[in-house]
Amino acid sequence: MNTQIDIPKGKKLNKYGELENLELTAEDWIARWEKKHIGFHKDEIHRLLQKYLPNILNGRKQINIFLPLCGKSLDIKWLHDQGHNVVGVEISKTAIEEFFAEQNLSYTQELVPEIPGAEVFKSSDHRISLYNCNIFNFSSLIAGKFDGIWDCKSLVAINPPDRQRYAKHMITLMAEGCCYLLDSCTFNQDKIVGPPFSVPQHAIEDLFGQSCNIQLLESLDALTEQQISWGLDSFIEEIYLIK
Ligand code: SAH
Repeated sequence: MNTQIDIPKGKKLNKYGELENLELTAEDWIARWEKKHIGFHKDEIHRLLQKYLPNILNGRKQINIFLPLCGKSLDIKWLHDQGHNVVGVEISKTAIEEFFAEQNLSYTQELVPEIPGAEVFKSSDHRISLYNCNIFNFSSLIAGKFDGIWDCKSLVAINPPDRQRYAKHMITLMAEGCCYLLDSCTFNQDKIVGPPFSVPQHAIEDLFGQSCNIQLLESLDALTEQQISWGLDSFIEEIYLIK
């Protein structure tokens, strides 16, 4: 039996064995959430966020922290529990609804007048606000600029042709003194189709180096069974502080 599939131009076979656009669209991400194809989600607070939160805070208390492309990350609730105001942006409404349900938090839902079709989901204490919209439609006019950013598997989820635009956009969301903690990764992209995409140090320098100071805080071997199953034999996680 011939099991080879003809892959149409502009499509790829993703890690779930399904045909998908080479460059994921918003609709592709929404579909992934509906099918529970969310292998990136972890049921734990990110160890490196716990370790490096003091680098985001830089001595400050109760700051405004932004999580771009936040999914239903447990880090949102953890940062809230540390006393901070947390704002996230996520294209999938399902992800946001699952976040509030799984964290047992009640919420209100409102339209965002500045962004057609967008809604914001707010915890009852108003210290968590998750915007259901495309990151590129979100701006500092909506929730101000941020004291801190936690970018976890977000830059590495962006289609490579949009990466520069994304970095420029993030810089517009940084308040004076903002500390941007970035979790990136480097691996052999020839072996797998993204996301995630490998974003090595020179790419980080190209994206942020002109306007920001970049410090590589830690680089660690983060190869897990999951990445071995994708066909990788090396996966380096890198954590940067961008100011
Ligand atoms: N930071 C999260 C999720 C990372 S995966 C975590 O660590 O678990 C990337 C997430 O970004 C997905 O949940 C996807 O639905 C969302 N996403 C992808 N493109 C987006 C876009 N253009 N705007 C907003 N969210 C987007």
